[in-house]
Amino acid sequence: WTEGTVTDAENSLTELAALAETAGSQVLEGLIQRRTRPDPATYIGRGKVDDLGKVVLSTGADTVICDGELSPSQLRNLEQRTKVKVVDRTALILDIFAQHAKSKEGKAQVELAQLEYLLPRLRGWGETLSRQTGGSGRGGGAGGGVGVRGPGETKLETDRRRIRHRISRLRREIKSMRTVRVTKRARRSRNAVPAVAIAGYTNAGKSSLLNRLTGAGVLVENALFATLDPTTRKATASDGRLYTLSDTVGFVRHLPHQIVEAFRSTLEEVAEADLVVHVVDGTHPDPEEQVRAVHAVLAEVSADRLPELLVVNKTDAADEDTLLRLKRLWPDAIFVSAHSGRGIDGLRAAIEERLPRPAVEVRAVLP
Ligand code: GDP
Repeated sequence: WTEGTVTDAENSLTELAALAETAGSQVLEGLIQRRTRPDPATYIGRGKVDDLGKVVLSTGADTVICDGELSPSQLRNLEQRTKVKVVDRTALILDIFAQHAKSKEGKAQVELAQLEYLLPRLRGWGETLSRQTGGSGRGGGAGGGVGVRGPGETKLETDRRRIRHRISRLRREIKSMRTVRVTKRARRSRNAVPAVAIAGYTNAGKSSLLNRLTGAGVLVENALFATLDPTTRKATASDGRLYTLSDTVGFVRHLPHQIVEAFRSTLEEVAEADLVVHVVDGTHPDPEEQVRAVHAVLAEVSADRLPELLVVNKTDAADEDTLLRLKRLWPDAIFVSAHSGRGIDGLRAAIEERLPRPAVEVRAVLP
């Protein structure tokens, strides 16, 4: 469902399809419903659920992905009505983060986010609804009254306890890994090496630009979320000053709060930067929306007050009218193509110009 315009919904759905493909699914069909708010029981309206059921049957789909976060009961009801697995945007994004996490800290953060998402959605075999919902209504649970109340609940409680246990353990581990990273960062700032963070919507070309600027050889994938663990490279300015360039976590709209939470420490690294190079995809249908989404996440970690250099990438593939419009909209932005190399020298100069000046001033002593 959507409360916005159909174009917004279509863009969001196209992105959801790209996310699903990144996760390894084959996308068969999209369905949009315009409503003022989601149906509390089934997310989309009842009639639309029947349509969805028909689409599932005719396409042979085995999963339905909803573009939003479903409540545990909406998820359960939809699964019952469609008879296939139902996944929401949050679960999908968490899944992709899980596939892409490489570092120990990244993996721990994703697992933590997944468990926090899972905990309220956990249901055991034979779970009795009366106790879960205070006796109000039926219509869920695995097979209704099949299970036996006692053992079913015991199993569920054990599972919940085990998950809570694991959650607190992960939190402790992440905390200690974080201490190590903060120490490293402190050493870097003691050395007074300016830090530049490359931020931007997922797939905007952050890794490609990092490669262009430093010849780093970072993995570039035409998939959402290729970047999960930040990569930091050293760069030298034309006047010999050293600075670091880091590629950050990709952003998407409606980034689940579990992810923002989990990656807060990684994102906080952006907040410590001296300059944010904000990369925008010039070929995207709605670059302004991308910029807003990135700003929203940056604001969450208080990185919105840092100096920002807006960079419109993929000028080789973008359409001329869009580029003209963006130039008027963002007169200070730098237009580049990480692929062809166009504008890269200008970008390098613009970055260097904005690097903080060394605190120590060296004056020539006249004889
Ligand atoms: P990231 O997710 O922001 O790090 O983006 P990547 O650097 O991984 O790039 C995402 C996709 O955009 C890849 O398929 C790149 O080849 C493509 N890409 C990056 N820069 C350019 C560019 O300047 N022009 C074009 N046409 N494609 C680009």
